[in-house]
Amino acid sequence: MERYNHLNTYLKEKFGERTLKICIDAGFTCPNRDGTKGVGGCIFCGERGSGEHLKTIDIASQVENHLASYRGMRANKFIVYFQNFTNTYDSIENLKKKYDSALIDERIVGIQIATRPDCINEEIARLLFSYTDKYSVCVELGLQTSNENTGKVINRCYTNEDFINAVTILRKYNLEIVTHIMVGLPGETHKDIVNSVNFVNNLDIQGLKIHSTYVTNDTRLNDMYENNQYSPITLEYYLDELCYIITHLRKDIILHRISGDAPKDMLVAPSWNSHKKLVLNGIDKILREKDLYQGMYYTVEE
Ligand code: SF4
Repeated sequence: MERYNHLNTYLKEKFGERTLKICIDAGFTCPNRDGTKGVGGCIFCGERGSGEHLKTIDIASQVENHLASYRGMRANKFIVYFQNFTNTYDSIENLKKKYDSALIDERIVGIQIATRPDCINEEIARLLFSYTDKYSVCVELGLQTSNENTGKVINRCYTNEDFINAVTILRKYNLEIVTHIMVGLPGETHKDIVNSVNFVNNLDIQGLKIHSTYVTNDTRLNDMYENNQYSPITLEYYLDELCYIITHLRKDIILHRISGDAPKDMLVAPSWNSHKKLVLNGIDKILREKDLYQGMYYTVEE
């Protein structure tokens, strides 16, 4: 029995067989980097954004290379995942060109777009909706925390209201939404995790990624760490909070990720972050031994 909703199981049920992601770097930037909303980006975000840095290779070639590699042999169905930076931050024409250029193979069944809430509007939602006749479409919206003060500390440069507005627009078009919560952000306590989980539970969200906060060498969080202004959390603390989140989260939400995944060559701290198995096995053990499962403590009133 699965004690929480695993992404792989969900995708297998949805598409009838194993379905994997093809990560794409489409050469986008972010309004929190180019000065439109902020400079320097969120304090934990490095020069690469998340994912591999591939923008020198055109999008179609990235997809072809993936499908021709050993990874392309591991499944018959794929989701193209626009991962790095803000993948709705461009003109509608350019967005369409970039998305279309990834949809080049019959094995592609879905499209996942990572972005930030203040880069969603009706026009973009309509464009994304236009792909739903042929593809499964999912939008990944940053949140990290529902604490607006932490939002300022991490320099995310959007508000909870921006987030709620984006959810409202996307759900009007029935687009699937995945969001993120981070554990271990500067100054946050268990109370903030409780509030962030309640915030997510009360919105029409279909998926969640839970991350531990980690420090990589090209971030402002690294400066804080070096100046003793930030202490990374321990594995034990993370597992406790992860357990709380899983058991208090709505039962219908799919967990797309339950660990942070720092690039190994750039990780500064905490060192346990580079051992994903410690998190996956650790949480499995806790849930099994205490007989806990997703949503068992969720109540509508929270
Ligand atoms: S919004 Fe996303 S891409 Fe932009 S700086 Fe923050 S984490 Fe990086």
